[in-house]
Amino acid sequence: MNSSTNNYLVLQPLWDYILAEFGGSVNSPIFPVLLAFSGYLCFSLPFVIIDMLGERCQFFYQYKIQKNKCPTISMMICCVWTAVFNHVIYVFPTVFLNWLWMQPVSLPVRAPSICTLLEEVLGCLILFDLQYFIWHVLHHKNHWLYKKVHAVHHNYAAPFSLSSQNLSGIELMTVGFWSIMNPIQLGCHPLTSWICNLLSVWMSVDDHIGYNFPWSLHNTFPFRLYGGALAHDLHHQKPGTNFAPFFRHWDLIFGTACSINENA
Ligand SMILES: [Zn+2]
Ligand SMILES: [Zn+2]
Repeated sequence: MNSSTNNYLVLQPLWDYILAEFGGSVNSPIFPVLLAFSGYLCFSLPFVIIDMLGERCQFFYQYKIQKNKCPTISMMICCVWTAVFNHVIYVFPTVFLNWLWMQPVSLPVRAPSICTLLEEVLGCLILFDLQYFIWHVLHHKNHWLYKKVHAVHHNYAAPFSLSSQNLSGIELMTVGFWSIMNPIQLGCHPLTSWICNLLSVWMSVDDHIGYNFPWSLHNTFPFRLYGGALAHDLHHQKPGTNFAPFFRHWDLIFGTACSINENA
């Protein structure tokens, strides 16, 4: 048995289990919406607790980027309400129409290999990063677009985890459109789409946590090419910088990268 066959065998039992137990549910239009929304709440929850502890827990507070700017409960509730409203009014109807248009959709019998899955996930994230970088620059350079579409997201100069979805309906639909269509356009396996969907939500929450933890991805990623919470917090403080959502290469190439040292 060669390594390529082993690659497939790793995920096949998991895929068989998903098909047998949840085949109907995961193929429904509500699944990607619930996956993204529950991911948003679950990934945010630990940081909601850390924010509520505030200065009482110095172990975490010492890493807060903008000290003395802790979110209030009403700010958090407001963000969750905005996210619920956007998902019900904009996201679900759009996903449902897309699902109708794509019918009939049948799930493949075979799981992807580990290598294919990793390649597809990386490809989707890099493509999304470029798309959002261009969109983001455009919405900061054009005053009308900024005011009508992106300004809502800049209500908070000191981001906190739940503020990652404090978006206008148009911005959330644009981001959701890329998250769903990129894996389809790139011919990815459904498992890749779901993992990308969850990863994008996690990375977006991570961008907004407001803490520069030494163990965070942006401090451990090779060559510091991942922006994470530090870069995006600076974007909320200095909106003409750090436009890319995840990686730093486009901001470095176009001279819009800003580090904490330059901000000091
Ligand atoms: Zn933001
Ligand atoms: Zn912005």
